[in-house]
Amino acid sequence: MKLYDVSVLISDELPVWPGDPGISVKRTSSLDRGDNANVTQINMGVHTGTHIDAPFHFEPDGKTIEQLPIETLVGPCHVVEMLDVKESIGLSELEKLDLEGVVRILFKTRNSQFWERGEKQFQRDFVHISEQGAKFLLEQDVKLVGIDYLSIERFDSLDHATHHLLLRNQVIIIEGLNLSGVAMGEYELIALPLKLKGTDGAPARVVLKKICP
Ligand SMILES: [Zn+2]
Repeated sequence: MKLYDVSVLISDELPVWPGDPGISVKRTSSLDRGDNANVTQINMGVHTGTHIDAPFHFEPDGKTIEQLPIETLVGPCHVVEMLDVKESIGLSELEKLDLEGVVRILFKTRNSQFWERGEKQFQRDFVHISEQGAKFLLEQDVKLVGIDYLSIERFDSLDHATHHLLLRNQVIIIEGLNLSGVAMGEYELIALPLKLKGTDGAPARVVLKKICP
């Protein structure tokens, strides 16, 4: 059994979405300073690094993170490589795929290289899923979609159509994955967000387990 950790490392060097809270990791009690234990305080937004969006992120009456079904967050998962897509994943990219019976799908794009290269600046030109792409995924009855940068939607979107379409229809979104170490294929997904009360998202440790043929 081979496990792949597809989560990014959280530190104050990790880029965050412009306008979101920054990341601070501070040792408030320290053995080095003579305290009786090391204790660290973290301060960050819930959409930090590898994280899951709950419907409440964009829908006023949407489910919050602790209400998401863990049955969807764990299970068979399809990893698709779209390394030559420059901008957006839309109908023409998705129609080529065989999505018969696919419930969970993760898109590996050139975005994963941002994490591999250790980019500290937020990258605006990330590959995203278009509104048409989101519609198509809904029609295929996909229940979970993951992408390898901090949003599934184009940076300067005004209507947030991709988020609305997916979240309104109870499709779980994972953002900020680093898929550079995994090849396309079939895996078992384990994506567990922190159990925060009433929030619009939460950081998650996401792991893929290779299903041996
Ligand atoms: Zn998010």
